[in-house]
Amino acid sequence: MDIQVIGVRGLPLIQKGDDLPALICDRVAFEDGDILAVASSVYSKAKGFTRDLAAIVPGADAVRIAAKTKEDPRFVQAVLDSSADVLLEHPFILSELPSGHIGVRAGVDHSNIEDGRLIVLPPDPMGAAEDVRSGIHRITGKDVRVIVTDTCGRAFRRGQTGIAIGWAGMTAIDDYRGDTDLFGHVLEITEEAVVDEIAAFANFVMGESHQGVPAVVFRNCKAWKGHDMVYFTPEEDIIRAALKKNKKD
Ligand code: GDP
Ligand code: MN
Ligand code: MN
Ligand code: MN
Repeated sequence: MDIQVIGVRGLPLIQKGDDLPALICDRVAFEDGDILAVASSVYSKAKGFTRDLAAIVPGADAVRIAAKTKEDPRFVQAVLDSSADVLLEHPFILSELPSGHIGVRAGVDHSNIEDGRLIVLPPDPMGAAEDVRSGIHRITGKDVRVIVTDTCGRAFRRGQTGIAIGWAGMTAIDDYRGDTDLFGHVLEITEEAVVDEIAAFANFVMGESHQGVPAVVFRNCKAWKGHDMVYFTPEEDIIRAALKKNKKD
């Protein structure tokens, strides 16, 4: 069956304490098996994962890095507070978060929030996806798969795309290893990062500015089998290792 893609319109500006699953369920008649992509920005605003710049006192590292990146030292401190490890300080901060996600400025975001406030990524993005999934189940009784997205840059290519930072009700990866292609060759390395593919298309529907569409529903997507090991281990991750080595030199 053809996949249907539904942008969820008419959501208000999300405030701390808002019941995001309830607000979405008011606007969508969910069906079992739907995949809901929700922007991390609105999940974080609903849960209060935000910072007030005025309340941040930058430490010595933040002041030092801010002089290089020409950013507000308080913003840099918020980035450092969200980071488990810093892989690159300049020309932009590239951080690893406790979840394993690696992103520019640790995903700390000052768009789509009032002046002087910052959105930080949910500290437990897998838990965030499960939270939305169980909220929808509680309200509707429907078994909905959920992806929490953020807009991210990529290595090697200009331009940002949506990626999945958390997911629930499905595995991140559709594992094709052992499957045969059209000519009977056994696939040896193909692990398709399905949650990122869906997140990228969701991000296309959401837009990046004033569109006001922080949630997108995909209907009639197939199910798949795989695993959740989307982040390379430190031993496997040659790019991360190269950045760390370069940082020490
Ligand atoms: P991010 O990719 O998670 O950082 O989220 P964005 O800031 O790029 O926003 C993604 C989509 O959600 C865009 O269509 C925004 O206009 C929309 N959006 C962001 N915050 C809100 C909000 O509080 N309410 C509504 N209705 N839409 C929002
Ligand atoms: Mn944003
Ligand atoms: Mn963001
Ligand atoms: Mn975005």
